[in-house]
Order: sequence, then C-alpha cells, then structure tokens
Amino acid sequence: MKRNRRAKILATLGPASSEEAMIRKLHEAGADTFRINMSHADHDLMRELVRRIRSVEEAVGRPIGILADLQGPKLRVGKFAEGKVDLTAGQTFVLDDDETPGDATRVYLPHPEILSAVEPGHRLLIDDGRLQLVVTKTDGRRVETKVVAGNRISDRKGVSLPDTLLSSGALTEKDRRDLDAVLAEGVDWVALSFIQRPEDLSEARKIARGRAALMSKIEKPQAVERLDDIIELSDAIMVARGDLGVEMPLEAVPGIQKRMVRLARKAGKPVVVATQMLESMITAPVPTRAEVSDVSIAVFEGADAVMLSAESAAGDYPVEAVETMSRIAVQVEKDPLYPSIISASRPLAEATGADAVSLAARQMAETLSVAAIVTYTSTGTTGLRTSRERPLLPIVALSPVLGTARRLALVWGLHCVVTEDASDLDEMVDKACRVAVAEGHAHVGERIIVTAGVPLRTPGATNMLRIAYIGSDGISAA
Ligand code: PGA
Ligand code: MN
Repeated sequence: MKRNRRAKILATLGPASSEEAMIRKLHEAGADTFRINMSHADHDLMRELVRRIRSVEEAVGRPIGILADLQGPKLRVGKFAEGKVDLTAGQTFVLDDDETPGDATRVYLPHPEILSAVEPGHRLLIDDGRLQLVVTKTDGRRVETKVVAGNRISDRKGVSLPDTLLSSGALTEKDRRDLDAVLAEGVDWVALSFIQRPEDLSEARKIARGRAALMSKIEKPQAVERLDDIIELSDAIMVARGDLGVEMPLEAVPGIQKRMVRLARKAGKPVVVATQMLESMITAPVPTRAEVSDVSIAVFEGADAVMLSAESAAGDYPVEAVETMSRIAVQVEKDPLYPSIISASRPLAEATGADAVSLAARQMAETLSVAAIVTYTSTGTTGLRTSRERPLLPIVALSPVLGTARRLALVWGLHCVVTEDASDLDEMVDKACRVAVAEGHAHVGERIIVTAGVPLRTPGATNMLRIAYIGSDGISAA
C-alpha cells in the first residue's frame, strides 16, 4: 500500500476505535501511527490494542508505528463535601494539605510539591482555565489565593500552574508502571507529558534503554522557554496545543507552533501537531472551514505528522476524520505554492556526511527528475536526515530492522520497507531498484537515487550516492 502524501497521520485509539476491524479501517483511511493514551487505557487494554495493531500490520504488510502516551504529572484538587462549590471573583480560597472534604473556603490539594513551590503572584488555573486563582500568601502547606475569574469547582478538577516550576520529575509512579508495561510490549514511541526541562527526559531515557524512542509533549510555558535543549534530548516533539492553550494565552499558540515546527525541522527530529485539529468531527461527518485551514497550515509548515485525538478515539466519525485529514494533506501538497513554501523553510545542511549526501540526493533528484530516492537506514538516522531535506519526490527507506521502519512511519515523506541488507554495492543498487518498483514508487525506464552508509549498519556514516537506471528486468542497468 502506497500513500500519496508526505505528511503523516497519527490517530488516537479509544472506545470508538479499539476493535481490530476499525483499526484496520483507520490504517487504510490513512493512519500511519496509532496513539494509545495511557490516561485512559489500563495495561490489559493497552496490550490488547498493541496486539491488534500488530495483527493489522501483518495483514496489510506495512510497518505501523505505535505511540504510548504517558499521563505525566496531571495535577488535581481533592473532593468537596457537596461535590462542588461556586466561587465568585474577589473572594479568598485556600488550598491546603488537609484531607477533609472541601467547602466554599478551602479544598485539599494532594500534591505537597505544589504547595511548597508556588509563590505569591503565581496563577492556579482550575478545570482548563475556567476558574482562575492568584496566590496571595503561602507558608508551604497552606496556600491562600484570590479568585480572579469565578466559576464552579468540583471534585478532582485539574490544576495547571503556568508560573510555577515544579520540583517533581516528569514521571509519576503511574508513569513508571505504565512505561515498564508499554516497553515490555515493544511500542515504538513513548510520549512524555508536561515536560518542563531537558532533565525531565533523563529518567525515561534510562528506563527505555533504546527500546522505544521518546517524544516530548510541549504543553507548558516552561518547556517552551527551553525548547532548543529539550529538542536536542528528545527523539521527537509534539505541539500539544490542548494544555499549551490552557497555560498560555490562546493567541500565543499559533506562533509557538510555527517556532516549534521550524526548530524541530532544523534539528531533523519529527514534530507532531496535535489537538482539536478536526474537533467538530467528533459529532459531525464534515469539519469546519477553520479546521480544514488549521490542518493545512501544519502541512504547509512541513510538520511530520498531524494528530487526531477524540476525533478518532471517541467520536462518531473516526474513519471520516482520518480520510478528511488525508485529503487535506494530499491537496496541500499538490498546491502550486507548496514547493516554494517548503523550500523557503528548509534548514541548511550540517557539515556531516549524512547531510552532504542527503542534500546532494535532493538536488540531483530535482535536476534529473528521478522517480524516487531510496535510502538504506538501519538505525533510522539516514532516513531522518533525508526527510530533513524535504525532497519533493518519494523517499523509500529500506531497513533490516523492523523497529526502525515502525518508528520512521511517523516521519515526513518516508515510505518504509523492511528488507534484508544487501551484501555488496551492486546488490544494494539492484535491490533498491526492485523495491522501488515493487512498492509502486518507480517504473522500468526511470531513474532512482540510492543513498547509504557503507559498510551498512554503521550508524550516521552515510557516504554513498548512486544514480541507477531501472532496466527492463527491474534491476539496475546503469
Ligand atoms: P493530551 O495531550 O491529549 O494527552 O492532553 C495533547 C495536548 O495537550 O494537546
Ligand atoms: Mn496534554
């Protein structure tokens, strides 16, 4: 199966899409990687979903990526005697370490690390910002606040702290248990929620030991401030606009998205644009004009992937949502302005063999109008650097490592194929021709460009580029 677009689709699985037949439909409609949200899936369900995705992968014969999204330190208030209270602007409200049920004057906050970290002037946003409190006084255990924008507050509502750098690490006890469980199932990507600083990646990195790649969800202002360093330590990032839009002014998010996509592309790390992309399709078979425009912007920016959350996980039209996203991406990539927009945002090649070869491959491809670039990549590095060039022709990434092909399913423009490595240069070129033809990305009589690091399986040692002509027997005749 061959996709006719370069931007990839990441679809979240949930109650609307947990059956194997539905997962297959979503894949056929265009989903390249699936997200399992560990905030909602228990370990049995997660294992079952992984099994079903792998079964679909087997049936369709294409590598499919799996992303397990850890919940992270999602903070919540305790409970109220009456279940809820209404707070009015101007009144005082206290959060403390007393477990007794709350009332109109106070509530339990079961996170001592917040009580000790907030300072006067810091904001506490409750229930996605519907209720805003500002700290007036604190002794480390009892935080007195003034209600800025009044609203109802009820049991276990979420708390966001845009102004406070929390001392806690990024992994909670639940995250650690979930991480062990998803690694044991061999998921390809793990997403870390509410990352604040580069150090927040280190524990997950140590536990993962290379078994899964790490995606940092950028959803806190503290993370936006340290974007460069976080990208450097991550394998990918997500523009997590849901929580970002709670903790930052909504109107700041589009500019931050542009910056994040640009920085990730510069680093050659995949970037996913997420949340509310086709929100209205949760309940309607067609999206709004504004949503179509939103998806198109991410594709024009050259993002690696666009994501569906509730649209595919819990909506009434999961397949239609994926199809719609796919159609938008295809259309944008056909737009006459697309090549110039992508070229204008292309980062300069770095002074490495891999970048020199990837740049040369793209330029030769444009000069000679070849059918495809075929690249050998065992760790994925060569594939990533080729994609970073954003060449406007198919890139076929050949890897002997199934895990690499699955991870790269999320990456812009890469059509991944699992195949045994070739034993010498001639076989390598012949095989590249054969696979490109078999996968429908080249035809007899056309030329392809082959890149690789020789000897194969030497990470980051991309040093070879060949132009091959596909002869009538489907193998190189050059
Ligand atoms: P979530 O992350 O769906 O796990 O909250 C994405 C976001 O915040 O945008
Ligand atoms: Mn989030």
